[in-house]
Amino acid sequence: MTVYLNGEFMPIEQAKVPVLDRGFIFGDGAYEVIPVYSRRPFRLREHLERLNASLSAIRIDNPCSHARWTELIGKIIDSNPWDDQGVYLQVTRGVAPRNHLFPKGLTATIFIMSDPLVTPTRALIESGAPAVVLQDFRWLRCDIKSVSLLGNCLLRTLAADQGAIEAILVRDGFLTEASASNVFIVSNAVVLAPPKSNLILPGITYDVVLEILRANGIAHEVRPVTEAELRSADEVWCTSASKEVLAITTLDGKPVGHGAAAGKPGPAFARIHRLYQQFKATFMRAPDAHGQP
Ligand code: PMP
Repeated sequence: MTVYLNGEFMPIEQAKVPVLDRGFIFGDGAYEVIPVYSRRPFRLREHLERLNASLSAIRIDNPCSHARWTELIGKIIDSNPWDDQGVYLQVTRGVAPRNHLFPKGLTATIFIMSDPLVTPTRALIESGAPAVVLQDFRWLRCDIKSVSLLGNCLLRTLAADQGAIEAILVRDGFLTEASASNVFIVSNAVVLAPPKSNLILPGITYDVVLEILRANGIAHEVRPVTEAELRSADEVWCTSASKEVLAITTLDGKPVGHGAAAGKPGPAFARIHRLYQQFKATFMRAPDAHGQP
């Protein structure tokens, strides 16, 4: 695998970072994961804008222009063998003697790698996935895509301990998001999504799903969702670059939904899943139609 580190492309085995890098010492940095379909980065402008927002929130000057990021990401895609990839990029504040205070004038560390994009299998799409509901004990700036992911990693592992693929999180009685995805529910034929705030990551897939709902006249509301609404929902979905839209069919071991449909992906999921795949197919034919740079 070819990666990019601070100005050079190299095999991943050769990529090394000094131990005093603030990413290593403090988790002091931000990242992005950009899905690539047929060698075309999906929603690149939106991902780079979110990176900009994360970096400015933690007072790191973006080390690259939009054009430079586009060039570097393009080179990483070209230098790896897979048509569909997940490009991971991270920027840390750089290397400095250990001190909590943000030092000024450091040279940011820039790292980019790519993996084959792994999306849900047909079997998982058809069965849906188990999740658990956990208290969201992360910090209050979950809108920053920070590399400090210890809370998310612990929550994801607590979910895995119970055989679940995701931890769906609630804070003060309201749904926030999941450990590595955003969450939508369907209640009485209306799709509900928690609004963007400091408590959730503004997911790129979340935006795409809302666009698709709007474009197809599917009833939806962006408003706070209570834990009770989550637990009694007809359908629950998780969204992320790699999960795309995935049905959650059990919560804490109990089937999601009611009657004969309980514990199975519901009709609204079938529709949004099909529309999402169509949206991707359109993008692959004409990436510029989606506002790419
Ligand atoms: N929330 C969290 C906590 C995440 O880690 C992710 C995935 N990066 C998401 C939401 C979904 O974001 P996206 O749709 O941009 O992948």
